[in-house]
Amino acid sequence: MSSSRGKRRSSSPKPRGGEGRPAPGKAAGRGDAPHPGTAAKREDILAGHPVAEALPPEVLPAAAPPSVPLSLPIRTVRCPVCEYIFEQNCGGLEEEVVCPHCGCGFPYTDGYLNHYKAYIEAFIDPVHPIPLAPGYSTGGEVQMPPNDLLLVDFGVTYRREPEVFFLLPDGNAGRELLVRNLVVLPLSVSNRTLILFSHVLDRKASARAVPVRWMAIGETGEWEKPLWLNYLQNAADLVRKGEDVAALVMLMVVLDFFYDAMLERLGITYETIRRRGRRPGMNEKRAKLKLLEEHLGAWPGGIDDLLRDLTDYRNRIVHRVVKRPDAPEFTGRRAFQVVMRALTTLISMYHQARQGDVRVPSSTKRK
Ligand SMILES: [Zn+2]
Repeated sequence: MSSSRGKRRSSSPKPRGGEGRPAPGKAAGRGDAPHPGTAAKREDILAGHPVAEALPPEVLPAAAPPSVPLSLPIRTVRCPVCEYIFEQNCGGLEEEVVCPHCGCGFPYTDGYLNHYKAYIEAFIDPVHPIPLAPGYSTGGEVQMPPNDLLLVDFGVTYRREPEVFFLLPDGNAGRELLVRNLVVLPLSVSNRTLILFSHVLDRKASARAVPVRWMAIGETGEWEKPLWLNYLQNAADLVRKGEDVAALVMLMVVLDFFYDAMLERLGITYETIRRRGRRPGMNEKRAKLKLLEEHLGAWPGGIDDLLRDLTDYRNRIVHRVVKRPDAPEFTGRRAFQVVMRALTTLISMYHQARQGDVRVPSSTKRK
């Protein structure tokens, strides 16, 4: 805890949380945090940081913060059969989790995505998106001196650089912080540390240290990911960057790979899909949807119409094919919502069909 700076008394800050149900990204947990505080050595903290070499030696780990840094696991799952919500450590994304309420088993990712189906927007939030695989939300408060740098240790190792943001005095979140005469920015972020930078705006006016409440949200596990989940993460990144066309194309790829994964679970081989796709009026994509419908039932709630609109819009912007001039257009955000709805619905349909262990009669609806 030794540091040369910022030995101000704590003004008993309350970092956040505690009120009611946790919001997405601020997942429930009892704070079984592996955070070592700021006792770690400077060289340990900085190991591998992109600007480690260039950082002057006087930049030290942040002074003992007035509040203990928080570290909350993002790993809430919801049973896709009975919708019971519980906390579960992730041993692997495709590892089976058993619901303590109904006893049904499901892959971890299914329960994770099923939980966040009510908060799909949180995956593409421009300031603090939650990861599409379990992770950690860490945060704390430090005293930031004027015109200085401060090294902050997350206490957990993220899979890649987490999203870092500040809790602003007005209760919102922001990528930069403006307090009194100081602007505070994250100068550099690695998977273990954050370097904060502060700049005095008016040099003639006085400036003193200000309390800075920071948060970092990211994925932590080193596990194998199904292909569709990798593409889904790419798609979420593209949506956040405003690359709508690329996002749309990527989202259609996600759907295709997700259908494949689902058909594989159902024991349907590629050979079957191929044979079915050769029938008149069919192609492989239609065959996949048809087979899914035969095993899991028809899409509920007009999802098939949304998917058809999305496919038509994709073909319109990629191939300039206008099948239905009145078909709606999609932003990247809207497309992401539709695809996530399709994915999470299919997850529920799969587990509910398996639980009932009955074949849902196929609807005779035209595809
Ligand atoms: Zn259950």
